[in-house]
Amino acid sequence: MDNGTIVKVSGPLVIAAGMRDANMFDVVRVSSQGLIGEVIEMHGDRASIQVYEETAGLGTGEPVRSTGSPLSVDLGPGLISTIYDGIQRPLKKIMDLTGNRLGRGIDVAALDQDRKWHFTPTIKPGTQVSEGDIIGTVQETEIVLHKIMVPIGLSGTVSEIAEGDFNVTEQVALLQKDDGTTQPLTLMQRWPVRRGRPYAKKLSPNMPLVTGQRVIDSLFPIAKGGVAAIPGPFGSGKTVTQHQLAKWADADIVVYIGCGERGNEMTDVLNEFPELIDPHTGKSLMERTVLIANTSDMPVAAREASIYTGITIAEYFRDMGYSVALMADSTSRWAEALREMSGRLEEMPGEEGYPAYLGSRLAQFYERAGRVISLGANGREGALSAIGAVSPPGGDISEPVSQATLRIVKVFWGLDSSLAYKRHFPAINWLTSYSLYTDSLAGWYGSNVSSDWMELRGRIMLLLQEEAALEEIVRLVGMDALSAPDRLKMEAARSIREDFLHQLAFHEVDTYTSLHKQYRMMQLVMAYYDKAEEALKSGADIEKLAILPVRESIGRFKYIKEDAVDSEYEHILSRLDGEIRQSLVKEEF
Ligand code: ADP
Repeated sequence: MDNGTIVKVSGPLVIAAGMRDANMFDVVRVSSQGLIGEVIEMHGDRASIQVYEETAGLGTGEPVRSTGSPLSVDLGPGLISTIYDGIQRPLKKIMDLTGNRLGRGIDVAALDQDRKWHFTPTIKPGTQVSEGDIIGTVQETEIVLHKIMVPIGLSGTVSEIAEGDFNVTEQVALLQKDDGTTQPLTLMQRWPVRRGRPYAKKLSPNMPLVTGQRVIDSLFPIAKGGVAAIPGPFGSGKTVTQHQLAKWADADIVVYIGCGERGNEMTDVLNEFPELIDPHTGKSLMERTVLIANTSDMPVAAREASIYTGITIAEYFRDMGYSVALMADSTSRWAEALREMSGRLEEMPGEEGYPAYLGSRLAQFYERAGRVISLGANGREGALSAIGAVSPPGGDISEPVSQATLRIVKVFWGLDSSLAYKRHFPAINWLTSYSLYTDSLAGWYGSNVSSDWMELRGRIMLLLQEEAALEEIVRLVGMDALSAPDRLKMEAARSIREDFLHQLAFHEVDTYTSLHKQYRMMQLVMAYYDKAEEALKSGADIEKLAILPVRESIGRFKYIKEDAVDSEYEHILSRLDGEIRQSLVKEEF
């Protein structure tokens, strides 16, 4: 291809002249070391290139060569359980080649080229196929069945296909295209990361991504295919929450994109993730995870690419008909990379130096999530749910990245450092968090859990809000100033917080709660409130009602195993009735 020369180097930005034939977003190799970069701006024959490797030592006059193709990822067996950098280079392979300090300009295939996979065809020779059709499968890990699909843009008749062991580049089938030419099909295909993969149809987000985390499922649910943001000031439980989601969310595949701020943060992820046990299978969570990591010794530009690399891989698994959960931690670091490049390109800065297109770039990313029917015969239903962590400096969400994110996402789980300080976990603030999916999921909860689910949820939200207002009064004039019904409200709200919302990630039972059990828990808390309220009206004493012994059992209900939930629920209800009756008996001396 066309050769240009470097005229300027500014950190990760390289300007090259003589690049008239290059296209926007072409991957280029910079200098004789062959550093990997991408064209992000063209002016006449001058290309502005974002370089994904350390540019120290580069000088003017060095060659730049366009590869003529856009930044793409390799999709095929071998993705699962691999740890990649932002441009899909397998970290372990690179480290094996160059030691801990990443070498430059290294070419390593994203998918293991030597490993043989057992391919089982699902169609016979002579079958007419088109883009997205499944032609066979590979058991990639014990849990993940990798479906081999006809690449986008291809169709014709499969003339040869056979069972056997193949590496990712060997022909597994031969396609006779309609124009008379033939094309070998392999286990691997490529896709440019900055383009969303096409699908047949987008579905409305009307079923929840069940997470087993009560504050999420019951109060602020995310839909399958939905988008959520989670701001995480330091120590607020961001990591624990994300691990819980990765472990428990109702997803077949997890794609985790880590853009660590400090080097050790990312190293933590690299060390911790493989240690996590998948509760459904008892095996390592990595058996259904793809990890993309930007360690601190990688230039910021690689962070910019990493979220596209991640979401493309996620889309590919969605195309197979899987539920995929993508987590990006943190999008603030990604936005900073964008800001740095924008500054070097001398673009007009927007708020706090972020480029004016920050919001539209974020939107383009989150838009790729969704529940869809895939292309191909018997279109498969798959979902890509995206959860982006945001790390606003000082926890103040009025800054541009948080604000731009909030305009796009439909769920906001506001982690709150003051709750974390009080050791209320998960520290998701019930007053500031929201889910715009609540209404579209109401029908699902109504028919799959209980017809009064939404009503219970509404009453619980109301009590929590009333508690906040009452707390103000208590702060001003003290608890004694409250009327008995208001005292009871405070008691019920405390029970909601402590007995229901508070959930220990490290307790073997409490770590996950089924929707049925969540429903029972809400019922119990509200049964206490309703019955005590009745009793108050009939003259019972609030002091007595506040200390009914049964409340202790309501508090411990979270530790009841799933199979004993209904019997324990009945048992507690009847005790509650008895104690309420008792509270109405006038003491006689
Ligand atoms: P961050 O990543 O925001 O800095 P972490 O996720 O590391 O914070 O959480 C800090 C600490 O808070 C954890 O070490 C743990 O002790 C506690 N914690 C957070 N969430 C939970 C939870 N759901 N259950 C129990 N403990 C939690």
